[in-house]
Amino acid sequence: LVASLEQVQQTYIMVKPDGVQRGLEHYKDLKAKPFYPKLIDYITSGPVVCMAWEGVGVVLSARKLIGSTDPLQAEPGTIRGDLAVQTGRNVVHGSDSPENGKRETALWFKEGELCQWTPAQAPWLQ
Ligand code: ADP
Ligand code: MG
Repeated sequence: LVASLEQVQQTYIMVKPDGVQRGLEHYKDLKAKPFYPKLIDYITSGPVVCMAWEGVGVVLSARKLIGSTDPLQAEPGTIRGDLAVQTGRNVVHGSDSPENGKRETALWFKEGELCQWTPAQAPWLQ
C-alpha cells in the first residue's frame, strides 16, 4: 500500500456484504484467487452501507482505521481488530490505493450522489 499523506484523495468505504450485482465487478483484481467464489457469495449476500470519504491522505488513514485483512493480525482499536474474527468475514472494506479509491467510488456512486462539505459552510462550528 503506497499512498501519499499529502494529496487530497478519495477512498471508498463500505460495510460488507452487498446485495448489488455491481459488487461482482468490485473485486475484479482478485478473480484469480482461490477464495474468489466465496468472496463473491459473501459480498452479494445482503445489503451494504456505502461511503465515499475524501480528505488529505484518506486512503492510508482509512486503512489504518480498518486494520489488517486477517482480523487476527489486526490491531486492537481497529475495526477489524475489535469486531471481526475471520478473514472471510472481516466487516469492512477500504480502497487500497488512490487509483482504486477513484475507481471504486465511481463504480458505486453516481456524480449527484456525492456531497462535498467543509466546516467553512457551517460558520457556527468555527
Ligand atoms: P483487504 O480487504 O484488506 O484489502 P484483499 O483486497 O486482499 O484485502 O482481499 C479482499 C477481501 O477478500 C478481504 O477483505 C477478505 O474479505 C477476502 N479475503 C482475502 N484473503 C482471503 C483469504 N485468504 N481467504 C478468504 N477470504 C479472503
Ligand atoms: Mg483490497
